Amino acid sequence: MGTSLSGGAVPSPGGVVISFERMNRIIDLDRENLTITVEPGVITGDLIRAVEAENLFYPPDPASLDTCTIGGNVAENAGGPRAFKYGTTKHYVLEIEAVVGEGKLLTTGRRTKKWVVGYDLPQLLTGSEGTLGLFTRITLRLLPKPPSTYTLLAAFRSEGDAARSVSRIIANGLLPSAMEYVDGKCIRAVGDEIAPFLPKDTGAFLLVEFDGFGPEFERQVERAYELMEKEGVVEVFVASDSATREKLWRARRGVLPSLEKLGKKIRHEDVVVPRSRIPDLVEYTGVVEEETGLMLATFGHAGDGNIHVNILYDEGQENLMEEAVDMVIEKVWELGGTAAGEHGIGLLKKKHLYRELDPLSIEIQKGIKNIFDPEGLFNPGKVF
Ligand SMILES: Cc1cc2nc3c(=O)[nH]c(=O)nc-3n(C[C@H](O)[C@H](O)[C@H](O)COP(=O)(O)OP(=O)(O)OC[C@H]3O[C@@H](n4cnc5c(N)ncnc54)[C@H](O)[C@@H]3O)c2cc1C
Repeated sequence: MGTSLSGGAVPSPGGVVISFERMNRIIDLDRENLTITVEPGVITGDLIRAVEAENLFYPPDPASLDTCTIGGNVAENAGGPRAFKYGTTKHYVLEIEAVVGEGKLLTTGRRTKKWVVGYDLPQLLTGSEGTLGLFTRITLRLLPKPPSTYTLLAAFRSEGDAARSVSRIIANGLLPSAMEYVDGKCIRAVGDEIAPFLPKDTGAFLLVEFDGFGPEFERQVERAYELMEKEGVVEVFVASDSATREKLWRARRGVLPSLEKLGKKIRHEDVVVPRSRIPDLVEYTGVVEEETGLMLATFGHAGDGNIHVNILYDEGQENLMEEAVDMVIEKVWELGGTAAGEHGIGLLKKKHLYRELDPLSIEIQKGIKNIFDPEGLFNPGKVF
């Protein structure tokens, strides 16, 4: 709750903040039909743990999972490390109950595996950033829990070696459940806090996780090892038990909270490039650093090409920060990417939206907003 990185939850002057904190009940867990129905204030990590206790699986796992809510995840179409194999929140939303314009209660979607009766309004509401209505109940699809998980944290000498390993793993037909990247600048700034076990000369690391079972599962893990060795991996840390896995994941999930403690302001950009272009993007952040004198630290969901570019700056350096943002976004478009992968547009990224979308698509989207919210009450000033 309130973890949006695009200013989505920042109220506009004269507005009212609605908290879903106390609407945090799991209403129904249907084991036979693999669905769960919840109130929007359920903390994502609590939902994941509740379904895993039943040997079931809810894949979307934003790194903020212990503080964000399912309502916020649906509103932002949140992703997470496991999106590479399992997709984002929208792939799990079946039915939504929402309060829409004029206080009407809309229930849309079906709890069945398939549904094509009319336009897919649940998918339209997913990612609507609180601008089309207030979700009051959500039904999500579940999967059976994968029997085994195997986690590798591979330390590389350079960012290029790590980024090239991502492309190699994908090009060789492997399907990890997660493939996360952290660059050398993050490691130098906060490595001692989040991953003290890393070799001193680590220039970047990848966290690669596989889930499944049987010989095919083992073959994939071994092949990933071989491919990373070819790219000059320095050391690989392995976890097959939950305590060690937690230690390795802390190295990834702890990056942003630790960067935030450095006493700098941070602008979070959340770009996506074709995965083969990650090395170009990472290299270009060095050009931006030279030009602006600011530090750009990158990490994120490399398997999806979704790299979080964090621009660190001080009070009074806002213009330089904006210059760095513009340079990064221009480069991303040049590489065939998009300005926002999972953090939404909110307040901060409206400029990107107006430049990335064509006028007709903006006009249609504004028309949709007007149908759902003719009085303009829901999250005013966000997205458009
Ligand atoms: C350390 C950290 C790591 C993060 N990692 C990830 C990540 O890996 N992947 C990712 O996708 N994001 C990530 N985020 C961003 C953020 O956690 C997600 O966008 C999350 O989905 C927001 O959930 P929230 O409950 O905090 O929503 P809030 O921030 O409270 O709200 C976000 C938006 O959702 C709307 N909203 C909330 N509840 C409802 C509702 N019931 N009905 C309608 N609209 C609603 C709000 O109006 C707002 O526009 C991270 C953030 C942090 C701080």
